[in-house]
Amino acid sequence: MTSVLTARSLVAGYDGVAVVHGVDLEVAAGEVVALLGANGAGKTTLLLTVSGLLNPIAGSLEVLGESVVPGRRVRAASVTARARRGLAHVPEDRGLFPDLTAREHLRLRSRRSRRGTSDSLELDEVLEWFPALTRVMDRRAGLLSGGEQQMLSLARAVMDSPRLLLVDELSLGLAPLVVEQILPSLRTIATRTGAGVVVVEQHVGLALAVSDRAYVLGHGAVLASGTAADVAGQVEVLEAGYLGGNRSPRPEAGPGAPGPPAD
Ligand code: ATP
Repeated sequence: MTSVLTARSLVAGYDGVAVVHGVDLEVAAGEVVALLGANGAGKTTLLLTVSGLLNPIAGSLEVLGESVVPGRRVRAASVTARARRGLAHVPEDRGLFPDLTAREHLRLRSRRSRRGTSDSLELDEVLEWFPALTRVMDRRAGLLSGGEQQMLSLARAVMDSPRLLLVDELSLGLAPLVVEQILPSLRTIATRTGAGVVVVEQHVGLALAVSDRAYVLGHGAVLASGTAADVAGQVEVLEAGYLGGNRSPRPEAGPGAPGPPAD
């Protein structure tokens, strides 16, 4: 299987201060990998480092075939280059423009395909994966529900057929029922496009149900990793991962079980 992301002994953080300590992480094309752990465990920091918004402090990192040299300086050019190579990052805040309609967001994205610079997906195909968006295409993003906004940010990210998709806290502020509806789309995206998908998620059971593999982080280190089924069985490690943090949404009993209530 082709690796789209490999981290070895990765140290990452802010202004040279490490909050991620020696993480090993591997993501292959076509698989969904969950990053689990309490608030402050280092999940977002890891994603920011992979997407180039932070530079690694030490260790090795290979993203879509590019070796990233550790150092303290972040270069905008490397973020853009990584995006061109096929990296898409859906941030916690969804990154939408409140005054643009859903259609305008998706049109902005598909411009690359019109230039013939990528094998972008057709709008119709992406809308098949997010049918709820079809009725709100001409509504401004700021007026969409939280779930619709999240679907839009995912749809926008997949329009360019990413080879590596990073999704941070898809469920933030969403009711568990909505999360249950949206999370399986990550599985569809990985299977249909061959992208490697990394999802940071607080709804542990739901995340494991759509993932192939998972990593549990605690205080910036990997506490456990393995297939989703293996990790789901390690209740004690999961509890250590969550109860060891600042806040403690307890993991559910198993895949598919509801997560913590929406904020
Ligand atoms: P959450 O689930 O709450 O988003 P997380 O697992 O994604 O948590 P991070 O956001 O990566 O965790 O934070 C890891 C650590 O880095 C925390 O101790 C946090 O306080 C610290 N941190 C985050 N952002 C910064 C920053 N800009 N400058 C300095 N430290 C930061």
